[in-house]
Amino acid sequence: MLSSIKKSRYTKTNFQSNYQRELFTFLLCFINFFEINTSFAASSRFFEYNHDMNPDKLQTILNEVKETYFSQELSGIKVRIAKMPRRDRKATFLQVKPKISHAIFKRPSKRTYLLQVNPLFYKNPPSESAIRAIFIHELTHVHDYVKMNFSKLTLFAFSYASNRNFRFKYERSTDKFALVRGGRDACVGLIEFRQWLYEQISPEDIEIKILMYLTPKEIQTHLISDDF
Ligand SMILES: [Zn+2]
Repeated sequence: MLSSIKKSRYTKTNFQSNYQRELFTFLLCFINFFEINTSFAASSRFFEYNHDMNPDKLQTILNEVKETYFSQELSGIKVRIAKMPRRDRKATFLQVKPKISHAIFKRPSKRTYLLQVNPLFYKNPPSESAIRAIFIHELTHVHDYVKMNFSKLTLFAFSYASNRNFRFKYERSTDKFALVRGGRDACVGLIEFRQWLYEQISPEDIEIKILMYLTPKEIQTHLISDDF
């Protein structure tokens, strides 16, 4: 009797702690994926940047890339350059997220998407062709998000944050889509971007990036074989 009481108490506690852990993980994923703090709108006064690169110039390049490669699908969709929150900056230079309030209350096509830039990017930016190529990659994410309502987006955010294989597969397929969309220029630019990226981060972080994204060598192989 005592053991069965103990067992049921244990099971209940175990269930509660599992449930709490899952809920906590879910909330973390949620907070991480959506941009809650929207006060980081792009504005030159928030950034330290060199004379060649600044948020306004980046916004101009982004608009051009969107118009050139996604003129149909992302027509009328707002994508704005913003400052990346401090918590996300480790080994990450660019990421794109919907504003939380827009994700909940607006239709996918009416949301504003924030392309968040690590301030370090401005101090030592890659070439413009590398920027254009990585913007095609980031806009490919937006191209996916505009097809997701809030519940689909939340489920996606959870899978992305909690499942490493899902994350790697998704990012690699995003690279492939971007290369098909951008053609040879995107291939050359993405090779340049990855080479630049590897120079900015630690050897441990390079190992993760190699698993998560196409490497310069892999892109080169596709480029030579014209396999796009
Ligand atoms: Zn990506």
